[in-house]
Amino acid sequence: MSNLDDTPTETGLGAAVGTAAPASGPAVQLLPAREVPLGGPRAMLVRRSLPSRARTTVGAWCFVDSYGPATGEHVMVVPPHPHTGLQTVTWLLGGEALHQDSLGSEVRIRPGQLNMMTSGHGIAHGERSLVGDGTALHGVQLWVALPERHRHQDPGFEHHAQLPTREVDGVRTTVLVGTFDGLTSPATTCTPLVGAEVRSRAGALRLPLRQDFEHAVLLVSGRLEVGGEEPAEGDLVHLGSGRSHVDLVVGGPSVLMLLGGEPFGEELVMWWNFVGGSHEDIVLAREQWQAREDRFGEVTGWDEGSWLRAPEMPGVRLRPRT
Ligand code: MN
Repeated sequence: MSNLDDTPTETGLGAAVGTAAPASGPAVQLLPAREVPLGGPRAMLVRRSLPSRARTTVGAWCFVDSYGPATGEHVMVVPPHPHTGLQTVTWLLGGEALHQDSLGSEVRIRPGQLNMMTSGHGIAHGERSLVGDGTALHGVQLWVALPERHRHQDPGFEHHAQLPTREVDGVRTTVLVGTFDGLTSPATTCTPLVGAEVRSRAGALRLPLRQDFEHAVLLVSGRLEVGGEEPAEGDLVHLGSGRSHVDLVVGGPSVLMLLGGEPFGEELVMWWNFVGGSHEDIVLAREQWQAREDRFGEVTGWDEGSWLRAPEMPGVRLRPRT
């Protein structure tokens, strides 16, 4: 998926920049989602909770969108667009989608499966919803910032049709990324990271956490109370770090995502679909995409004219670290 905001702002990533609250300590911070049109003639609204005004990363997680449920033949059509310096994580609760990228990947994804694309120094991809069995499209799109040592590597794409899952007392846990509660995902990670889906009926539950990670809980659907906060669907609740567990109260059949990782120590810049080490990295990536240079490759199956053009960059440089 792409950031289709017409006027994206440049965002500093990492614990050192753009973050009002400290990553250390078990603070609770509600990060309400805002609605952003995904674009297209019948623009689907997505709920974006990261980056937010108050926080830009949770571990290396740097972008959290949730969308749907939405029905229709072309409910999601995102033409080819570039990425640098990040991984995209596609996870569906309903519906079906087709991923095509400049490595030649062409993969249908269904609920319970994981698409993880590692852009490295550059990749292009397009995505569209498929009618499939007619189930409404419902899912999340997450980005993971790559650290400097992985930012310049070759791009890669992984589809995982099977992920480790466990069901205990009506709580079903599926691990997308990293290790959670003794289950380990096969997906490639570049920093210590965790991402898990938790499905629960009404009731109280306790999730085990790593004390050296910071964590957040995304309410995808249903009702949740955590640390005195009652997020709406699409909202994120940051839990800070230093916790051995978190206690949740679920108010009916609900789907949550636990996201966490080692607090991201590097300073990065994110703008539109790019993560770079500096403002200059972003300017260069944008110019090379606009010029259709080899860096991003070709995506077959899409009209040339449909490829997304990068927006104009804002007139100001990213504010340096203070
Ligand atoms: Mn994308």
